[in-house]
Amino acid sequence: MRGIVWFRRDLRLNDQPALTAACEDCSEVIPLFVFDDPLLQSHVFGSACVNFMLGCLEDLAASLASRGITLQWRRGEPVSELVQVAQAWKADVVYWNRDYEPGTIERDRAVQQQLGQIGVVVRTFKDHVVFEAEEVRSATGEPMQRYSAYRTRWWAKWQSVQPTTLPVPRLLTAEKAAPLPAPPPLPVARELGYEPVMLWIEPGERQAQKRLRWFAEGPIHSYVTGRNLPAVDGSSILSPHFRFGTLSARVAVHAALASLAQGRRVSRPDVFTWIDELVWREFFQQVLSAFPHVVDGPFRQVPAPAPRAPGTERERLYQAWCEGKTGFPIVDAGMRQLNQAGWMHNRVRMIVASFLIKDLRIDWQSGERYFMQHLIDADVAANNGNWQWCASTGTDAMRGYRIFNPLLQSKKFDIKGEYIRRYVPELVKVPLTAIHEPHTMTVEDQEWSGCRIGLDYPSPIVDHQRARQEYLDLGKAAKVGPS
Ligand SMILES: Cc1cc2nc3c(=O)[nH]c(=O)nc-3n(C[C@H](O)[C@H](O)[C@H](O)COP(=O)(O)OP(=O)(O)OC[C@H]3O[C@@H](n4cnc5c(N)ncnc54)[C@H](O)[C@@H]3O)c2cc1C
Repeated sequence: MRGIVWFRRDLRLNDQPALTAACEDCSEVIPLFVFDDPLLQSHVFGSACVNFMLGCLEDLAASLASRGITLQWRRGEPVSELVQVAQAWKADVVYWNRDYEPGTIERDRAVQQQLGQIGVVVRTFKDHVVFEAEEVRSATGEPMQRYSAYRTRWWAKWQSVQPTTLPVPRLLTAEKAAPLPAPPPLPVARELGYEPVMLWIEPGERQAQKRLRWFAEGPIHSYVTGRNLPAVDGSSILSPHFRFGTLSARVAVHAALASLAQGRRVSRPDVFTWIDELVWREFFQQVLSAFPHVVDGPFRQVPAPAPRAPGTERERLYQAWCEGKTGFPIVDAGMRQLNQAGWMHNRVRMIVASFLIKDLRIDWQSGERYFMQHLIDADVAANNGNWQWCASTGTDAMRGYRIFNPLLQSKKFDIKGEYIRRYVPELVKVPLTAIHEPHTMTVEDQEWSGCRIGLDYPSPIVDHQRARQEYLDLGKAAKVGPS
């Protein structure tokens, strides 16, 4: 029997259910990746994300080649490409791991239906999450809407199921290789319509494993404090690996739990807090899966201030936010980190999101789109879920509106202004007393530090206290409704 393994967001050999099943069922296994042309042309994702994916594919191709197997690739519209290769290669079965984005579900349905018409069997597997939406439900069998309740049930499920992981398939050897012509080299970013970029997070399964080992041996045990400090390496920086499946969530949870047995400087609260972040990831996956309307609008219709109307003022504020020129150093540092590196620290993501929605009163969907186009870990479920959480549209259990104070956040989490200085070079020489609010510098300090407010660095584009009050007043009015 001949099987095609359609690789998608699972670019690894370890703990890979579709690949394992194909190796067990088939005498010949053909690994395949399809560059989705319509998706690439839509530029929903940015260059950082695409370059990272290409790096992961290079690594996957090398790992397969070292076992005598060739990664085949195609470029085009996935449904027709899949049907074409299944026919041309005389495949009996196509294997893939499931994805939960509404558009992808629809596409996969079409592939399955058309393959069925030509007599090709499809086998799909759970992979991207530890538990799919149907596996963690409320007591009455409903999809879960609150993280805290979801978390309790997720852990109960983990205890009862005790999920295991799969090794690299023992049967994945040259004997499984199908006699097909070798494909051309994988395309480079420019050929796909994207700029080449220097990646500061190394792609590929081997790098993911290395990073996980490093994290589990040290930083995980001080995660509760470390994760909030944007100037230090306190979180795992594994999100692009989870995004492209160079690391499985099951392997990560097991590694975290195993780190508790390592002896030195072990901290249970820190380790469990980190695993809870993986549970957040699954929570948002199940929100997307069970409530697909979130991609087009709010999770829940809650009364909220209407976003600022389109026009030059909105455009001016939005551009300042995108470019990191708001006059709020922590916001500017975050946006510039995003623009330069395709990455932003989680605490700062929350600060800039709250600032866009609540201080500037710009629709959260604009921020969501901008993040998708710039993040190396751009992921529909996590991005949408977090933007909706920041926008108070229903997935946050807090009553009322959560409004971050950028100044207090900055003083608390970037105490010495190291993160700010790293990404906002105009502020490098600004004294510590003014690093979080440089517009308060005296004229002498501005001269001395080479940072003239309004010339070298902008004054704040809004008054936070006033903007906050306005948002709350508008919120109150929205709850009461039109008089
Ligand atoms: C406005 C906004 C947009 C975001 N967009 C994305 C996105 O597009 N893709 C993405 O992967 N994450 C997104 N996040 C979540 C979070 O910022 C990143 O997952 C995290 O910064 C990645 O860093 P890390 O790998 O060091 O995480 P760690 O702190 O080491 O956490 C481990 C893993 O848990 C998951 N995780 C952590 N926090 C969250 C969270 N809040 N929601 C969902 N999963 C989480 C990630 O997979 C992460 O790699 C967003 C957060 C905000 C506030």
